[in-house]
Amino acid sequence: MQSEDLYKKLAEKIFMGSSELIPKIFAAIADPEEAELLLALPGTAQTLSRALGKEEDKVEEMLKVLYRKGLVFKKSTPEGILFRMCRDLMQFHDATILWPEAPREFLDLWQEFMEKEWPAFSEMAEKVLPRPVTRIVPVSESIDARQQILAFDDVRQMIDEAGDIAVTNCTCRLTAQKCDRPVEICIQIGKAAQYAIDRGTGRKIDREEALALIRKAEEVGLIHTTMNRAGDTHFICNCCEDCCMIFPVLINKKLRMCDPSRYVASIDAGLCQGCETCLERCYFGALTFNREKNIVEVNTEECMGCGLCKVVCENRAISLIEHRPADFIPQV
Ligand code: SF4
Ligand code: SF4
Repeated sequence: MQSEDLYKKLAEKIFMGSSELIPKIFAAIADPEEAELLLALPGTAQTLSRALGKEEDKVEEMLKVLYRKGLVFKKSTPEGILFRMCRDLMQFHDATILWPEAPREFLDLWQEFMEKEWPAFSEMAEKVLPRPVTRIVPVSESIDARQQILAFDDVRQMIDEAGDIAVTNCTCRLTAQKCDRPVEICIQIGKAAQYAIDRGTGRKIDREEALALIRKAEEVGLIHTTMNRAGDTHFICNCCEDCCMIFPVLINKKLRMCDPSRYVASIDAGLCQGCETCLERCYFGALTFNREKNIVEVNTEECMGCGLCKVVCENRAISLIEHRPADFIPQV
C-alpha cells in the first residue's frame, strides 16, 4: 500500500477520513512500518507478529514505542497484553500531543488542525453528541457555605478521594502557546494518573501539590473542567479561554461543547463597590456593570458557574448559588 493510503486509512480508523490534516499528523508521528502495525490492531504482540509476518520481539519493541507516542493503548487480558489504537480524534489529540519526544513541528501541525479544521468539526460534534463530554467544576471556595455541595461539584473532594494523582502538561496550551499561563497543570486521577506515570507523560504528585495547583489555576484565571459524569473523575483540566480547544468555540460560536456547573454567580448589591475587577475575569460575558446603581450584575443565562469572578472580589460580594438540580450532571 502507498504510504499516503496508509495514513488516510489511519485517519478513517478514527472517523476522520475527510480530514486533510489528520493523515499528515499521523505521517509526522508514525513511519510506514508503524502505520501498518497500527492498521493491524487490535491484537497481542503474538497475534500481530503472526498477522504481519514479523518477529514477536520486533513487534513488542514497536508497540512499546507506539505506546509512548500515544498511538496505542494496552489492556491486560488472559491471552496477554492486548493493544488497541487510539479510538477517536480526542484520544488521538490528547495522547499524542503529550508524546514526550514530540518535535515542535508535530505540535504545530496539531495547531494548524485546530485553526483550520477544528471549528467545523466541533460544530458537527455539537450536533451529534447528546451532551457535552466535559463540564465545568466550580472553584470550590466560591460556593456559598449555605448551598448544597455534592461530591461531584467539589474539586477539593475529588482530589481528597483520588487514589493516584499525576500532573501532565495541558495539551492545548502546549500547542497553541497563546498565553503565558502554566502548562504543567492538568491533573490526572486514578487510572488516568497511572497511565500518565507509566507512559512517562505525567509526574506523580501528592494531594498537597494537587491542591496547590488548583489554587494556582484559580489565581491565574483557569477554569476547572472534568468528565460530564457524576461518578467519573479521571481528570481535572484547568482551561483558559484562548488556547483551549473547547472554550474559544463555546465563547465565539456559542457551541455547547462543555456544560456549565450547577451554580451561578450572585452579587450582593450591598457589598459590591462597583470596582469592576470581576468583569475581566468572566470569559462568558455574564457580568455587566450597571452605572446607575454602581454595581455589577449577573446574566444567569450566560453564567457558566465557574466561580472565577469570586476569586478576585475583595469585597466578598460574589457567591455561587445552586441553579440546576443534582441530576443535571449525568450519572453514567
Ligand atoms: S469585584 Fe466585587 S466589588 Fe468589584 S465590581 Fe465585582 S462584585 Fe463588585
Ligand atoms: S459570572 Fe462569569 S466568571 Fe462568574 S461564575 Fe459566572 S461565568 Fe464564571
